[in-house]
Amino acid sequence: QHEEALAARSKDNLRSPICCILGHVDTGKTKLLDKIRQTNVQEGEAGGITQQIGATYFPVDALKTKTAVVNKDGKFEFKIPGLLIIDTPGHESFSNLRSRGSSLCNIAILVVDIMHGLEPQTLESMRLLRDRKTPFIVALNKIDRLYGWKKIDNNGFQDSLEMQNKGVQNEFRDRLEKTKLAFAQEGFNSELFYENKSMAKYVSLVPTSAHTGEGVPDMLKLLTTLTQERMTNALMYLSEVECTVLEVKVIEGLGTTIDVVLNNGILREGDRIVLCGLNGPIVTNIRALLTPAPLKELRLKSQYVHNKEVKAALGVKIAANDLENAIAGSRLMVVGPDDDEEDLEEEVMSDLENLLSRVATDNRGVTVQASTLGSLEALLEFLKQSKIPVANISIGPVYKRDVMMAGTMLEKSKEFAVMLCFDVKVDKEAAAYAADVGVKIFTADIIYHLFDDFTKHMAELAEQRKEESKMNAVFPCIISPVAIFNKKDPIVIGIDVLDGALRMHTPLSAVRTNAEGKREIIDLGRVTSIERDHKAIPICKKGQPAVAIKIEGPNQPLYGRHLEEKDLLYSKISRKSIDTLKEFYRSDVTKDEWLLVKRLKPVFDIP
Ligand code: GDP
Repeated sequence: QHEEALAARSKDNLRSPICCILGHVDTGKTKLLDKIRQTNVQEGEAGGITQQIGATYFPVDALKTKTAVVNKDGKFEFKIPGLLIIDTPGHESFSNLRSRGSSLCNIAILVVDIMHGLEPQTLESMRLLRDRKTPFIVALNKIDRLYGWKKIDNNGFQDSLEMQNKGVQNEFRDRLEKTKLAFAQEGFNSELFYENKSMAKYVSLVPTSAHTGEGVPDMLKLLTTLTQERMTNALMYLSEVECTVLEVKVIEGLGTTIDVVLNNGILREGDRIVLCGLNGPIVTNIRALLTPAPLKELRLKSQYVHNKEVKAALGVKIAANDLENAIAGSRLMVVGPDDDEEDLEEEVMSDLENLLSRVATDNRGVTVQASTLGSLEALLEFLKQSKIPVANISIGPVYKRDVMMAGTMLEKSKEFAVMLCFDVKVDKEAAAYAADVGVKIFTADIIYHLFDDFTKHMAELAEQRKEESKMNAVFPCIISPVAIFNKKDPIVIGIDVLDGALRMHTPLSAVRTNAEGKREIIDLGRVTSIERDHKAIPICKKGQPAVAIKIEGPNQPLYGRHLEEKDLLYSKISRKSIDTLKEFYRSDVTKDEWLLVKRLKPVFDIP
């Protein structure tokens, strides 16, 4: 069996490449997928396109039929046996098709709305593709929306473009150039596919319409070209199984099942398999290998067909015991006759452990939760680049126990009592509990939105602390009374500012030497009004005309008995007030004011 597989390993015997569709919401990913899948009624079933679990398989005959309009002389040669396209478009399935940091998705279609250009999720998809070094083509979709477009259903793009009037052609060129420029700004060189001289250097742009089907034949042909010319090594058969869990699902009558994509190798009923579980490795035996029943047989017994064995590449549902804690995104390994089960357990768990090892060692950081191993990995990578520390990670829906984990931060570092949740549901009880204890939960299905939420949260907290610290912030000043209007409760006096600036709420003190010759600090209270010519003002600076101020506070000294007009008054600074200025008001304090703070320190015996 091993020999057979190796013998089959040659560039003339390739397996089907796996293709994912990514892009911003509403660019037409789903519609485009529908359009590719759509069987041509006149020609009957287009060469046996089959619906699999989580994927659609296009055998080479289907590809030939679908690309016929752009291969009229039939000279284009197909070397791949078919193409497996993953049904769920978007980041999640892409980031899940992974193995040891590299992507199992061989090629991707990045869908861009030609009317909108690059959008936030387009950029995020591009980052993912770049990180995983996945080749991709760009479908510039919705060309039928170019003003005045005349359609020919399912036509080749070049042919359709030639038929358009000058205005449409100009608008197309204009939007094409804008898109190329935008790609260049992101560090990708791109070219219209039939003007692309080097697939290695330039990303190919294929104009498409998911409504009229125009450009779809070009897109399929381009995918074929790119895979069979540039990635034959990756497409040679391996005897080893390469398989990833796309989804974990409970199915009535089957219990918890896993939907997997088999990239390489063969799976058989009864195989002993090892995969990564939330609470440790899962080892079990394949009870059933299920693929959807063809439409016409659907009314018979079951929704599924049982397979004795399946061969890469395809999507298949696996029924087995003990799959409850399986993690989407986990690798699946088959225990061979020479394999040590424990080695394989370690191997599959290492994916989760690698992620666990990335959390902050000092246990101070946010809590991160994602739907799958792959999306968690992508999120952690992003947070690392954004310098947001992570203390806890988890996979799957958010439950109360997860919030409790995040809640441990409330005492350590309140600002990190935050959960950043990507593409997961939050359980009702968990949400209520979080609101109760003060854990913030942010959910998003665009990664960088979580960054925005978190940044905003930090800014709000800083603002709140600044507000709370207002009373602790004491700006330095020395003032000299020039008139006493009211001796006590409240003290009202006229003053000149000798140094610094007097602000509202500043606490004031006088320093006197008492009868025994000891230095004594007399607290007057806080400034509750500053007026010049009966008009309230917030601040009086050194050298400005005199102002009348009111000072209020408990146990005020009495002018004439405890205090005299000639006593200078100082803003009452303390260690805490200085720290507060440093933390929250650094940009508001001038150099001269820092010097004055320094001069005031000995007055209040601050080291
Ligand atoms: P997704 O969010 O990327 O999967 O986008 P959908 O496939 O759901 O499409 C979003 C919207 O755009 C739907 O209303 C589609 O009918 C429309 N749409 C998709 N492709 C095209 C296209 O090629 N031309 C036009 N005019 N509309 C399109």
